[in-house]
Amino acid sequence: MLVIDPHCHMVCRTTADYEAMALAGVVAVSEPAFWAGFDRTPAGFVDYFRQLTETEPKRAALFSMQHYCWICLNPKEAEDLGKAKEVLAEIPKFLDCPTVLGVGEIGLNKNTPNEVKVFQQHVQLAIDTFKGKGGEHHLILIHTPHLEDKLKGTKMIIEMLKDFGGAIDPDRVLIDHVEEHTIKLVKDAGYWTGMTVYPVTKCTPQRAVDLIELHGFARTCVNASADWGVSDPLQLHRTLLEARRRGHSRQTLLQIFYNNPASFFGQSPRFRLPKLILAEAGPQI
Ligand SMILES: [Zn+2]
Repeated sequence: MLVIDPHCHMVCRTTADYEAMALAGVVAVSEPAFWAGFDRTPAGFVDYFRQLTETEPKRAALFSMQHYCWICLNPKEAEDLGKAKEVLAEIPKFLDCPTVLGVGEIGLNKNTPNEVKVFQQHVQLAIDTFKGKGGEHHLILIHTPHLEDKLKGTKMIIEMLKDFGGAIDPDRVLIDHVEEHTIKLVKDAGYWTGMTVYPVTKCTPQRAVDLIELHGFARTCVNASADWGVSDPLQLHRTLLEARRRGHSRQTLLQIFYNNPASFFGQSPRFRLPKLILAEAGPQI
């Protein structure tokens, strides 16, 4: 089955990972900008954005995979407002690159006042630098904090987005790393949701399928978010396998693991894959 991984940090992965993903049916991957495991200088960010927009698409192409990315200063490094200002000034030119889908993954880490300021500046940038139809904005991908900060941070993010009024279209925003206590909040507010499936932290494949069964799969994307920590790009496939084991139809699996990300990303004309339709329902195999 063909799959799109909507959130995977390929700069941290080997070519063996690219190959394993391609063998497992991944035809496109989207890579948000994030924390490198250490704080960078503004010049370091520019190099990173070049890696995302120039190098990774070439590595992915070796495995017939399309590579898309998102550009931002991550919330963990937003504490330094001077650095944030310098990095934000570099972002608009990268938003013009042909494989960039939007601004992300912005968000909150420890829910601090400086993180809030930089989050708002990124959202404003997504509005101000969009060159498409009037009234729209760049797609936005949002990281929610970990553990005890998640619920509070998710509420703060939704409130901040509301403050932008009609300038923000919830259909063009995905709020990622939802868990049992935040998924309803995000869905009820009309945003896309992302579930991140990890081997040790965040959601397990079983919990992700439980969430899908409880809350439905409309506007829901599942990702492995594999990075430089303990993670595995095939966690997405373990989730798919768990859903299949529980008897979910091929149509449902195609919707969750391919057509949902294709629909969200497809709002950008830069995303080049069409949605797929099963030829006929056929027997369950
Ligand atoms: Zn991430």
